[in-house]
Amino acid sequence: MKFESLVNPAVLTQPVYEPGKPIEEVARELGLDPAGIIKLASNENPFGPSPKALLAAQRALLHGELYPDGGCFALRQKLASVRGLAADQFIIGNGSNEIIEFLGHALLRPGDEVVMGAPAFVVYKLVTLVFGAKAVEVPLTNHRHDLARIAAAITPRTKLVYVCSPNNPTGTANTAAELLAFARALPDHVVAVFDEAYADYVADAPDLRPLIREGRKVVCLRTFSKIYGLAALRVGYGYATADIVALLNRVRQPFNVNAIAQAAAVAALDDREFVESCVRENRAGLAQLEAGFKQQGLEFVPSVANFILVKVGEGARLFDALQRHGLIVRPMASYGMPEWLRITVGTKAQNERLLAELAAARR
Ligand SMILES: *Cc1c(COP(=O)(O)O)cnc(C)c1O
Repeated sequence: MKFESLVNPAVLTQPVYEPGKPIEEVARELGLDPAGIIKLASNENPFGPSPKALLAAQRALLHGELYPDGGCFALRQKLASVRGLAADQFIIGNGSNEIIEFLGHALLRPGDEVVMGAPAFVVYKLVTLVFGAKAVEVPLTNHRHDLARIAAAITPRTKLVYVCSPNNPTGTANTAAELLAFARALPDHVVAVFDEAYADYVADAPDLRPLIREGRKVVCLRTFSKIYGLAALRVGYGYATADIVALLNRVRQPFNVNAIAQAAAVAALDDREFVESCVRENRAGLAQLEAGFKQQGLEFVPSVANFILVKVGEGARLFDALQRHGLIVRPMASYGMPEWLRITVGTKAQNERLLAELAAARR
């Protein structure tokens, strides 16, 4: 008997996620010096982790022999005090990606439908399909989530609806009024998931906590991988009503988040100065990239996140050309946008180099 005949059929048709390539891999493949390579492909923080988080991580490593606190008590307490909700309204994941998986485990069965924007973060679709559920993709309007169209795609079989704001890969956001009205109008059998991975980059990000205080079926997702600069440690969180959190906890492995990540995340939440400086630098970097794109006559989607979509024409060729010069960006063909590149906002010097190499590659 072939092994394939034993597996969940959804596994055989599962699309493959193409992550931004690690610097070491590009260096190996192209014979480049890793020190000269800049990765602007996965929306990581070009300023690294906060120094306070680094210290806390180093200290936590001294007790590497002990299993972590599976309940993430200290981190949930810290989140409760910083975000003004109760500790039992937070669930911690091995990256917020893991919470997307918890939602699949807890809610999805074959025949269920999951509504999502397209293009949006591909993990929603991957997790939907592996549970045998159907991904209902609703095209964006002007590169932005069209909440009326998303609401119209909901059927009696809909279990989950994902809204990513600011959206990856477009960098566009919906207003607080739009998101709140959308959530409040949802039918009772639907759970809304608001992915706020990039909310920290937005000056007046929508406050969705009222929805949780109203007891709605809403899960909000945040991550330490982006502005907090801790992508390597894999830690993110969800917040929702305590009963939703309790159900999601049932499908969580006992020690899903390591102790170093927990300690670093607690310290990162205390370093407001670092976060504020990253927000300022990012805003300046976005302006720098937009000005550069304009100068080169390139169309782009105005972004409020830490990355930007730019229309370069031959996306695959320019992706290759940039990579050969040590700049890793994200090609968009797998998102159905072969003429575009998604570029993470880097430091001032990195942005300058990106703009120069892009101009050279297009000649
Ligand atoms: C980066 C990102 C995440 C975070 O993923 P982690 O698993 O926390 O690293 C979640 N959602 C979106 C839209 C993202 O771009």
